[in-house]
Amino acid sequence: MSLRKALLVVCDGMGDRVEREYGGETPLGIAKTPTLDRLAASGYVGLMDPVSPGIRPGSDYATTALLGYDPSIYYTGRGGLEAAGAGIDLKPGEVAFRCNFSTVDDSLTVIDRRAGRIEKGTTDLAETIREIKPRGVKGLRIDFRATVAHRGVLILKGKGLSRMVSDVDPHDNGVKILRCEPLDDSSAAKRTAAVVNSIVTQSFRIMRDHPVNLARVKEGKRPANIILPRGAGTLPGFKTLHELYDMKVACIAAVALVKGVCRIAGAELVNVEGATGGLDTNYEGKAWAAVKALENHDLTLLHVKATDVASHDGDFQKKASVIEKIDSALGKIMPSLNSESTYVIVTADHSTPVSVRDHSGNPVPLLISGPGVPSSGVSKFSENAVSRGNLGRLHGLDLMRIIADYLGKAKKLGF
Ligand SMILES: [Zn+2]
Repeated sequence: MSLRKALLVVCDGMGDRVEREYGGETPLGIAKTPTLDRLAASGYVGLMDPVSPGIRPGSDYATTALLGYDPSIYYTGRGGLEAAGAGIDLKPGEVAFRCNFSTVDDSLTVIDRRAGRIEKGTTDLAETIREIKPRGVKGLRIDFRATVAHRGVLILKGKGLSRMVSDVDPHDNGVKILRCEPLDDSSAAKRTAAVVNSIVTQSFRIMRDHPVNLARVKEGKRPANIILPRGAGTLPGFKTLHELYDMKVACIAAVALVKGVCRIAGAELVNVEGATGGLDTNYEGKAWAAVKALENHDLTLLHVKATDVASHDGDFQKKASVIEKIDSALGKIMPSLNSESTYVIVTADHSTPVSVRDHSGNPVPLLISGPGVPSSGVSKFSENAVSRGNLGRLHGLDLMRIIADYLGKAKKLGF
């Protein structure tokens, strides 16, 4: 292990647009962030296109790029990543789906995609789902695991399966669930779609009267009476960061998808109590876990989802306050990091402008602070300031190469 270490802080969806209605500033721009400002002033700042200018990536696609894997080659759907994040080792040929526990009415119209943001009872429901036998298909087994809150993973095991099938989840409330359709002409895609439709229909039948749901209805809560699969995926063929760079990596994240990408990239997953992936996450606990992880890892990736949650809510002030919480947590741990040997990199996996309430193709702010890095001299870490920064504009794939280089892990090309 090299003496030099790096802490990579990824604030999900932190990047934003500079809109006139918010006085030409962004949530990061107005947030009080003394620690980020100090790091930005003493380091490189710039903009980064997580994938490419104008490309709107999901967190899984973007995190793949930030870890140095070209997603146009390595991305094989969300399901495989979610499964890896839940600690499931997918085998080649198996197809995994992200699933929501959802609430539908008798006509299979979605009342609530997140089943009242169900927290408890999903493990019991998962057990019931695992007993489903898809109709008319021989030699196929299914597995189902509850992951975080209303989310789960469905895995199809057997021969002749394909990830080229569409979502059942309509991604909206008030509309009917969709039929899973094959996305190409292969018999594997047709077979997989038929299997998924059979599982979804059966899930509604067995879940609506499940004791967990009867209790929920009694308490005035929405029942988790169906699973809605989406994002079919297989295992991406990554070489690990250890194989590529001899780098020992830790990942601190609550979101299964991000954990999955990191785990497949060879990172050790560090679980932190109270890390929820929500606005109420344990910001300080995660930051302190990163300090500890850096003791025996070259690189620690610390992912915070809350910025993206506030962004999807379209709440400018809430997003700014989440950024302030991240800043405050980093401020607490900074004295415990050796500034002579530790790089601190802060960025986002993509932009989620509050005005859009969804991911956009805007570049994200980036700072790299540490030994041997020139000072930008900016007084504030913000989209406005970094767009005039000393790092210029990078591609997401550049980031891991730059980190590897600073850590003394980059291979020399040529003589
Ligand atoms: Zn998002």
